[in-house]
Amino acid sequence: MKQLIIIADMEGASGIFESNRAACWHEELHPDHTLWRTYGRKCITSDVLAVCNAALDSGIDDILLYDMHFAGCEEYNVELDKLPKQVRVFDLPKRSIFWSRIRGQAAIEPYGIITVGQHARNGEPNAYFPHTIHTPPLESFFVNGIHVAEIGESVMCFCDVPYIANIGCAASHKEALELSPNVTCVTVKDKSRGWEPTPDETYPLIYKSVKEAIADYDNKTSYPYQNNCKCELTLTEDYYFDVPESFPWKGRFEERKAFWETHDIETALSLFWQVHEYIKKR
Ligand SMILES: [Zn+2]
Repeated sequence: MKQLIIIADMEGASGIFESNRAACWHEELHPDHTLWRTYGRKCITSDVLAVCNAALDSGIDDILLYDMHFAGCEEYNVELDKLPKQVRVFDLPKRSIFWSRIRGQAAIEPYGIITVGQHARNGEPNAYFPHTIHTPPLESFFVNGIHVAEIGESVMCFCDVPYIANIGCAASHKEALELSPNVTCVTVKDKSRGWEPTPDETYPLIYKSVKEAIADYDNKTSYPYQNNCKCELTLTEDYYFDVPESFPWKGRFEERKAFWETHDIETALSLFWQVHEYIKKR
């Protein structure tokens, strides 16, 4: 069985720009806005469907999808009823980012991982909605020297799994390439040249590029397993860490920084949310 892992975000989906940014605003948190339901969901669904169809037409027979945008909200961003029957989703309460549980539900050796709908990290130029997991309060998150946002967390969680393609904002590819230099990068919008195509225009581009990427599977590489993870989380200026008297992991805090160290990436990513608990606004 060839199992493909697809990790979908939304700020990097086709058809979503600053001019219609409400398309990203999940209805459960933004009940006064309708664009997410009437338009945004169609955009990310089109991109994910292009990936799924290309994968199935390339001999992949099992797809596990994690729809991570607005994790904590119940309803999926991707319209699951529009996807092929071979696509399953991870069993997570309200799509919560429980990386160990996500990794544990996948095959021991998945065939590959593809990230889609991806945006750039906080601070990247010429990017649509650049942010690091959520900015503010997060300015940056480094794991073993790589600035990690949604793409990095996903690919590191699936370390040793061939990273086949990243689909999203042109500025998002930098993070993908730092994790795996041979990953296929598919651009669906590019702020540096004002290229803002519709999802219908990018669908064939995504389909063709993913098919080519899978055909080039032997050249794809993975982010390698690390037996030591050094993490550094930095906050934006208006936030600080309310430092606890004691905590059960190896690490330390500064006013706007937290450091921690673990033996494996799943623990490092899980501790991220525990460290996160101590963030306070000035
Ligand atoms: Zn998102």
